Amino acid sequence: MRYDESSPPLPESSTSISPDRPWYARRSTLVVAAAAIAPAALAGWVLTEVLSGGTSDDSRPPRIVMPLAASAAATSASAAPSASAASSASAAPTPAPGASAAPAAPAAKGTLAGRTVVIDPGHNTGNFKHTTEINRQVDIGTNRKECDTTGTTTNSGYMEAEFSMDVSRRLRTVLEAKGLKVILTHEAGKERPFGPCIDERARIGNEAVADAVVSVHADGVSAGSRGFHVILPAKVKGGGADTAKIIGPSRQLGERIAGNFARTTGSAPANYLGSGTGLVVRDDLGGLNLSTRPKVFIECGNMRDAKDAAQLSSPEWRQKAAQGIADGIVGFLGG
Ligand code: ZN
Repeated sequence: MRYDESSPPLPESSTSISPDRPWYARRSTLVVAAAAIAPAALAGWVLTEVLSGGTSDDSRPPRIVMPLAASAAATSASAAPSASAASSASAAPTPAPGASAAPAAPAAKGTLAGRTVVIDPGHNTGNFKHTTEINRQVDIGTNRKECDTTGTTTNSGYMEAEFSMDVSRRLRTVLEAKGLKVILTHEAGKERPFGPCIDERARIGNEAVADAVVSVHADGVSAGSRGFHVILPAKVKGGGADTAKIIGPSRQLGERIAGNFARTTGSAPANYLGSGTGLVVRDDLGGLNLSTRPKVFIECGNMRDAKDAAQLSSPEWRQKAAQGIADGIVGFLGG
């Protein structure tokens, strides 16, 4: 859920709607299939958001409203951290730009070999039994927050922590088949009866020098709120937090994931925040603030909405969710 790391009053600031074409219309080839499913609904939701003046929970002025074109420029200017690793690892010829439409092509492995992805399953099924430990405050650079939270559940008791772990494992399987090195921040159970704390979750990605990091969640808001959203890091600086170098590549990663997630699941961007873009920028998440690697969170749906919960509870749907996130990561990495 989005109150993962305790909850200042809903600080998310929505991204602006692209002045030319929204992200879901900028995809080509494979997305055409998804376009058959989603656009009517998307267009309706975008229109609704525009007419209603945006979401009601933006109590603060938006901190970052970066047009997509500008963000692309920022991305190219700040993508340096992984570029050197990529060049040293790319003895094999790299596929031409645009080759991403062939995800299973052997050439993709040449691009992806040696690259590292860290997947962070949100929360931990054991957190409920360790409230003292997870309520401990940790330093997130800009602030102090709880070590971790329990996450939400569906009305029938399916835990967000179970969901996030299942999707993360499916995601690992898909990515490893592409030749990527995959690290999970935890797998609960005896080795990790609770947590890790949010600062450690960030540190695992940093120390792995991950090329991409994705934290997997599902939201817990009122019924009728539906759809997914990807959370991007805001530009923050304070203590051990400095996201200046990751906001560009993280946005690129997030846009790729959002587009592919919509395509594989048929889900629409959240209808309750993000102004229909499926993208939200936040400055209060320790897992993002402390990251030095390109990183996003994805809230795959709303566990408290019956229709979303039915999807989230379906193994078949979770496989589609994992595939969409994986396709977004692979696209971001140039595979
Ligand atoms: Zn969560």
